[in-house]
Amino acid sequence: MHYFSYKDRELFCEQVPVNQIVEEFGTPLFVYSSGTLKRHYRIFEEPFSGAPHMICFSMKACSNLAILKIFSNLGGGVDIVSGGELFRALKAGVPPSRIVYSGVGKKSYEMDDALRSDILMFNVESEEELQLLSQRALALGKSARIALRVNPDVDPLTHPYISTGLKSNKFGIQIEQALEIYLKARDLPALEPVGIDCHIGSQLTELGPFMEAVSILRKLLKKLRNNGIDIKYLDIGGGLGIPYDQETPPAPGDYGAAILDLVSDMDITLIMEPGRVLVGNAGVMITRVLYKKSGLEKNFVIVDAAMNDLIRPSLYKAYHSIIKVKKSLDQAPKFVADIVGPICESGDFLARGREIEEPFPGELLAVMSAGAYGFTMSSNYNSRPRCAEVLVDGSNYYLIRQRETYEDLIRGEKVPSHILEGK
Ligand SMILES: *Cc1c(COP(=O)(O)O)cnc(C)c1O
Repeated sequence: MHYFSYKDRELFCEQVPVNQIVEEFGTPLFVYSSGTLKRHYRIFEEPFSGAPHMICFSMKACSNLAILKIFSNLGGGVDIVSGGELFRALKAGVPPSRIVYSGVGKKSYEMDDALRSDILMFNVESEEELQLLSQRALALGKSARIALRVNPDVDPLTHPYISTGLKSNKFGIQIEQALEIYLKARDLPALEPVGIDCHIGSQLTELGPFMEAVSILRKLLKKLRNNGIDIKYLDIGGGLGIPYDQETPPAPGDYGAAILDLVSDMDITLIMEPGRVLVGNAGVMITRVLYKKSGLEKNFVIVDAAMNDLIRPSLYKAYHSIIKVKKSLDQAPKFVADIVGPICESGDFLARGREIEEPFPGELLAVMSAGAYGFTMSSNYNSRPRCAEVLVDGSNYYLIRQRETYEDLIRGEKVPSHILEGK
């Protein structure tokens, strides 16, 4: 459920006509609905209300400060994967006691920043990372609370690029080695093993793989407690899918109930790291049709947004529904086209072979479900300034990131003086 809908054939975000926002801020443009963000957070949290829990939004999905602050106001924390994300989270006012730090390649200065901020927990992904973290914590006179990210070898049944919990993936520590490495962690200085963590993949549309993974963690938890390791947190990662097209992911309520059922007797604080399910359908990307081109074999609709703005179709062959911002009075005839951007790559498309109402140049299209891994994965490829982002709240709307300028494109670049002089 989201708050993007038609009133009199015109697309609104909450109480605001999308067209009105575009007139002020231009295209391409990301528009988020704060009502939807809050609603998704509350629905996700609801089943856990009776149990100790923490929702750590996986901020790589959508890391704008305003959006982080909305979740933080609701009591949420964040899951970070870099020093840059730590910086953003702290800027947004997320309390460090609600920050967990995941990722296979943490650098020592990133660890130092997180240690100095006294974040809740590091999700450690290898034995070598454990050694370095111990050294850094010791050097700073701190103690690092850690979980090991274990790889339960569960098939999440999703796109190979976003499955992370298989033996063949780079993530985590093999489940068979977990006990041995926990014992090592316990004996290393300045480390405090307090949690178990896993994250098996993204855009999961079945409950089975989650249940399988949690059952495996359950067994590990018993073993660890038998060995005197006091586990307080069970971090089950993110990954719950959303409907982009025809898929029917489990409702957050069913997901929550099933998880709770498995962990309610475990005496732990549950940590979840949802990303997509909170923000995916709370954001859209608006783009303007530039040209239409009918080839011998295909029709092309050329729009002003491209793979640099939304890479999911190019990267994962992901499906995004594309609709008109103003529906015509009599339904325009449908036709089948590739919807493509201006970038010089054949892989630059937002949709392929898509049947849509024939749009004409100048019209606005809304690319739906673009709130997760949309703006955060955008780049400046082809020297295209990144989009503006706007947040709608009821009948008001706010610019939460200004469109980049050409000056932004060259910020930090320098031409060495001898080259400048033509040598
Ligand atoms: C990306 C990621 C998530 C969030 O995944 P979603 O599918 O967006 O819910 C959670 N935890 C970790 C460690 C991740 O890398």
